[in-house]
Amino acid sequence: MSRVSLRLGLIILCLLGGLPGAVSHAGELPFGLRGAAVQGGLLRGQVPVGTKVWLGDQPVRVGENGSFLIGLSRRAQRSLTLRLLYPDGEVRQETFSITQRDYDIQRIDGLPAGQVSPSDTDLARIRRDSAAIKKARQVKTDTPLFEGDFIWPVTGIITGVYGSQRILNGEARSPHLGADIAADEGTPIRAPADGRVVLADDEMFFTGKTLLIDHGHGLVSVYAHMSALDVVEGAWVAKGDVVGRIGQTGRATGPHLHWGVHLNGVGLDPALLAGDMP
Ligand SMILES: [Zn+2]
Repeated sequence: MSRVSLRLGLIILCLLGGLPGAVSHAGELPFGLRGAAVQGGLLRGQVPVGTKVWLGDQPVRVGENGSFLIGLSRRAQRSLTLRLLYPDGEVRQETFSITQRDYDIQRIDGLPAGQVSPSDTDLARIRRDSAAIKKARQVKTDTPLFEGDFIWPVTGIITGVYGSQRILNGEARSPHLGADIAADEGTPIRAPADGRVVLADDEMFFTGKTLLIDHGHGLVSVYAHMSALDVVEGAWVAKGDVVGRIGQTGRATGPHLHWGVHLNGVGLDPALLAGDMP
């Protein structure tokens, strides 16, 4: 190898971020990222307009104002690499660590086989509901519609936590991707952050009276089991606005709000966004 190509190789290596010290220390986030670097967490970043961003080999959507969001899934890897290509051609990358979590896994064996399966009518409704939710989630607002931190939609007792899962007769059910907050029937429920109502449905099979609020950038809140909806599809809501009431519609065993937050389909932990329950 000639000296010139060796030097060129070193320059390319540096450009790709193979520089010493490119690995963040635990708890430190690169490039001014903010948020909880933990499974189920949401990270927020800001780059100069025109910068391209990748997480691993996946492109990250950057808004017109240079802001971007990263959602860490329930099973996010121990370490992730963020790569930035600035408008002037400079490339930077850093690897940072993600705190891993233990989830509440409940194994229940010996249940009688042949549990009630939904009727054809119910199945049709279940399919219609999931198609409507999927469609509403696809609404892509490129700009962030929210600023600052999220708030809890309602004050109450947390009866269901993010990530928990039940394994019935050895069969793993879908993990619980949200927070359940128990409160008295009729208690007002507030928007956790600014956004626009992209779905307001009166009678979904599992989730009853259901709301989806688009916070922009692919970040969506879902509220389920409400007794009343106080907003209509298309309405703009501000953080703290009352949007509905606590109930137990759909499949619920008591009055509570199920609050889920999804970023481009990745279920996040609302408790990490809203902090301690007041
Ligand atoms: Zn729930």
